[in-house]
Amino acid sequence: MTLLETQNLTAHYGDFQALFGVDFTMDEGETVAVIGANGAGKSTFLRTLTGLHPSKGQTITFDGQPIAGLAGDAIHKAGLAMVPEGRRLFRSLTVEENLMIGAAGKLSGPWTLEAVYTLFPDLVAKRHNPGTALSGGQQQMVAIGRALMSNPKLLLCDEISLGLAPKIIKDIYPAVPHIRARGTSIIVVEQDVGQAMAVADRIYCFMEGRVTLTGTPHSLTREQIAHAYFGMG
Ligand code: ATP
Repeated sequence: MTLLETQNLTAHYGDFQALFGVDFTMDEGETVAVIGANGAGKSTFLRTLTGLHPSKGQTITFDGQPIAGLAGDAIHKAGLAMVPEGRRLFRSLTVEENLMIGAAGKLSGPWTLEAVYTLFPDLVAKRHNPGTALSGGQQQMVAIGRALMSNPKLLLCDEISLGLAPKIIKDIYPAVPHIRARGTSIIVVEQDVGQAMAVADRIYCFMEGRVTLTGTPHSLTREQIAHAYFGMG
């Protein structure tokens, strides 16, 4: 069943147009990676889906309902949760308090504190420590856990690996298939094509605000991706 669909989606910052006619569709249960260079429009696409960027009058259908133009909290209640780029924890609160904030107004579903601790065992020993005591990777785990605590139907992750060391990224990316295994659909925004290919059922490549390529990782060649990502070849 189709979980999310956009038709001819556009976005502007004043006179500047950041998205041009984006047609996007994903099924329930899928993990989709959105790839593209700096400034391709990936974050703007996520922000438009979650109501952080205006979408009034456009066509965005989520779980059978039109969501364009709704306020962010109504979209969140409909089952769409975002892990923001840069993590943004409440640094004076403990890990567990941060996670519980995500549970406010939660839908029913598989995600509980225990399920988040099973997903990220590193957090168990830190559960009563403040956000200030965490490494960058652990902060990212809390940010993902906090978004999951609302039991979203669709989790949106903006550049999970941004600013993290490769070793730490290796601790976080394996969580994606576990999240999917509990029935939560996922969109990951990722600049690292290899990482995206490894984790996604399907890929959308953006360039300069347009979708330039879509397909399964197996069906796409390096040449196609280079062309769609950088516009060369
Ligand atoms: P990155 O990987 O750098 O986050 P991105 O693919 O997510 O890139 P966006 O952040 O969506 O790209 O930016 C798309 C375009 O919109 C860029 O040209 C960017 O400069 C512009 N843009 C983004 N945010 C704003 C803003 N608040 N005001 C004006 N222009 C913006």
